[in-house]
Amino acid sequence: MNKSDLLRYKNLLLSKRQELSTGKSLVDSIPTAGEPRGDPVDMAASETDAAMQIRLQQTDGKLLRAIEDALMRMQHEKYGICEECGQPISQVRLEAVPWTRRCRDCKERQDSRS
Ligand SMILES: [Zn+2]
Repeated sequence: MNKSDLLRYKNLLLSKRQELSTGKSLVDSIPTAGEPRGDPVDMAASETDAAMQIRLQQTDGKLLRAIEDALMRMQHEKYGICEECGQPISQVRLEAVPWTRRCRDCKERQDSRS
């Protein structure tokens, strides 16, 4: 993998990380005081939203860790190498899932095991 490819994946990771962390801060910045409260229907709807938001954040948290991990591997020049078989991960796969740690073969093997 050459430097410009690496830079491209790094940018993909960084923008995804940005996307995830801005999503979080948006939730934090929702005003809690001074807002007129809606009728019970609105309240019920916002409870559902909150529950969904929590689920989303759990998934995002996992993804965020995977992204941090990938950036770390870049620093150690291990990025794009399958941690299972040590073979380079295909660029097509990295393009789609830049935070992946396994090549497609190993991923499929793992999926069929579980
Ligand atoms: Zn592999």
